[in-house]
Amino acid sequence: MTKVALPPAPGTAEHLCLALANSIVMLPGGQRADELNTPGNATAWLISHDLAPEGTGLLAYCQLQLTDLRENLRRVLESRAEGVSPSAGALGAINRALTAVPSAALLQYDPDEGLLRVPSHPTTQLVDHAMAQIAEDAAALLTGPDAHRIAHCASAPCDRFMVRTHARRQWCSERCGARQRANRAYARKLDNAPAG
Ligand SMILES: [Zn+2]
Repeated sequence: MTKVALPPAPGTAEHLCLALANSIVMLPGGQRADELNTPGNATAWLISHDLAPEGTGLLAYCQLQLTDLRENLRRVLESRAEGVSPSAGALGAINRALTAVPSAALLQYDPDEGLLRVPSHPTTQLVDHAMAQIAEDAAALLTGPDAHRIAHCASAPCDRFMVRTHARRQWCSERCGARQRANRAYARKLDNAPAG
């Protein structure tokens, strides 16, 4: 599995939608690190986020569904961070993920235990269920009290999203902050260097 060397951006541990959005990131060297770059890695990502049981195996088609949702999620998060209208297409994709499968736990009868509610997670719908949970988290975050804190890391080329821990926070990590300060210091040095 491709390891992203950065610590998680603020809010990622609490929000599945940020975890998915940040599962692809531009590294300082300019190469992309994608945690969902193969069906096997996409499966491992779902398992590590408690969205699929151990032993699950995803098909390439399911991987593609997940990366499509990620793309649309990134667009909507970006528009929220920028304070502009989201595209209808991206919103539609999130809404399809929200409604593709019933999310309610079903009522079942067990001869020993009697009536009980059981989440219905047939393997064929596993990815749909995972996407529904991610979309639900996105809808809650985007309309909740932290929505105004959604931001894009300001330290190019990093393009991770975060929930700002304080109003002036600009970077997703110490490392991004340090890189940005170093870049600025370097730019100042160039400005002050005698022209020649
Ligand atoms: Zn960053």
